[in-house]
Amino acid sequence: MNNYFIILASGQSKRFNSYKSKQYIIYKNKPLFEHSLDKALSSKLFKKIIIVVNDKRQINKKLPKNVIVIKGGKERSDSSLIGLKYIKKFKPTNILIHDAARPNFSIKILKNLVKSLKKNKAVVPIINTKDSIKYRVKNQLFNLNRDQSFLTQTPQAFRFNDLYNLSIKQKYKIQDEATLFIDSNLKVKFIKGENSNSKITYKEDIETNKTFVGIGFDIHRLIKGKKLYLGGLKIPFHSGLKGHSDGDVIIHSIIDALLGSMRKKDIGTLFPDNKKKFKNIRSPKMLKPVIEMINKNEFYINNVDINLICEQPKVSKFRDKIIKSLSKLLNIDSSLINLKGKTVEKLGLIGKEKAIACEVICSISQ
Ligand code: ZN
Repeated sequence: MNNYFIILASGQSKRFNSYKSKQYIIYKNKPLFEHSLDKALSSKLFKKIIIVVNDKRQINKKLPKNVIVIKGGKERSDSSLIGLKYIKKFKPTNILIHDAARPNFSIKILKNLVKSLKKNKAVVPIINTKDSIKYRVKNQLFNLNRDQSFLTQTPQAFRFNDLYNLSIKQKYKIQDEATLFIDSNLKVKFIKGENSNSKITYKEDIETNKTFVGIGFDIHRLIKGKKLYLGGLKIPFHSGLKGHSDGDVIIHSIIDALLGSMRKKDIGTLFPDNKKKFKNIRSPKMLKPVIEMINKNEFYINNVDINLICEQPKVSKFRDKIIKSLSKLLNIDSSLINLKGKTVEKLGLIGKEKAIACEVICSISQ
């Protein structure tokens, strides 16, 4: 195992509109370049890992002994050459070069690359293009045949001496090391790349959806002779839930969970129970403005999980109907709603069938 890994993290991020160089921006809970570093480390394939940066001070954490940080050059091709010259003294057999802006490669591809180097001098992962590409020569446009075009990714793997000898002779700024082999008519072995291993170039590339969760709870007393509503559905039962409205604990809990996830206080603020106009209001009517709030703020509901806590009626009898009703009211697919029935071993008010309680957790994204 005489493999070395160079991570190029010294790009100027010209297309990345941020005060921080993109290599240090936090992506999935850690600086972008650390994704590549951590995978290289856990693959255990490399004797040394060299990170090429603009400014060594930008990496302010303690790194394992076999990780070395060096200062790069102005362009990517300069930094790559600086890295190669630096590791020459270790007499590497194989070298993998990788752009820190691609954090989503797999350890499996590292293994495939190293394995393929046994029979090849240059191994490069490629993927097919999803878009059709045009290119311009002077003022004329040409179509690239999509079936015969592909995109090269990093990490790219090489026999060190072959790459080194080509690199020191390079006459122009290359965008990847494969270019050196191709321009010299040398064989490059292409292996299947990974669609997920795309390059983070623009700020939009890392602006993932923000997800929030909310929790809701409600309890109402059961009284004889009142209609029972659960999840917007009328349930045949000898008692119903007492309340300022129709006492639908499921919908009330959902409203609170949704408001909580949007960080918009609670159901009591939205529908004060000293207001006459809300007296005997049906709960689906209360849910409506909350759904409108979700839509207006460009949220969407990921899922809703419900615990209905009561001895009677048995949830299993009405589960599908209640979910169907909620799916309509929330305007989401029924597969996103889960309803569980929970008894309390005949304990307390709920156990004596004098009350029904409900708790809901929901997740929304923007
Ligand atoms: Zn309530």
